[in-house]
Amino acid sequence: MKIGVLALQGAVAEHIRLIEKAGGEGVIVKRTEQLDDIQGIVIPGGESTTIGKLMRTYQFIEALREFSRQGKPIFGTCAGLIVLANDIVGQDETHLGLMDIRVARNAFGRQRESFETDLDVKGIAKDVRAVFIRAPLIEQVGDGVEVLATYQGSIVAARQGHLLAASFHPELTDDERMHGYFLDMVRETR
Ligand code: GLN
Repeated sequence: MKIGVLALQGAVAEHIRLIEKAGGEGVIVKRTEQLDDIQGIVIPGGESTTIGKLMRTYQFIEALREFSRQGKPIFGTCAGLIVLANDIVGQDETHLGLMDIRVARNAFGRQRESFETDLDVKGIAKDVRAVFIRAPLIEQVGDGVEVLATYQGSIVAARQGHLLAASFHPELTDDERMHGYFLDMVRETR
């Protein structure tokens, strides 16, 4: 099972490592033509405005919308979650706008810019290791969206059919179970 990691900016190698630990084949994706060869894709953390700009420059917006129309799974982590959202608090512009979630960027405040914790993630485990770095949170979800995890009352992971989003960085831990869950989603679509 070939799983791409969008490699325009952000934590790419770390995602490849956990995809492989979870039993998939990780592919570094830099060109839209590569999307035909993979069954699912991860949009990593980084800086969402930068990733969004590069996605426009390299024609990934329309290409990934088509990828999604084909039912192929997409997993956005941190900035990748922001890229998936159809509503970003305080911004007119969205990026892919595929997922029916409203997200607030940098939502955990300055004093808690980064922290690590264990999360109870529905369908995975009660102790999934998660690293939060200037993380967004999901303020609101649409009808078709299932909440998978909360942290102190805020939504930090959600799924809408073939779309998966997490506020945190599972790839900065050795815990490959979020990636394993995503691989199961890819398996289901085949
Ligand atoms: N703060 C970043 C943004 O708003 C996301 C941070 C991250 O991906 N670690 O895009």
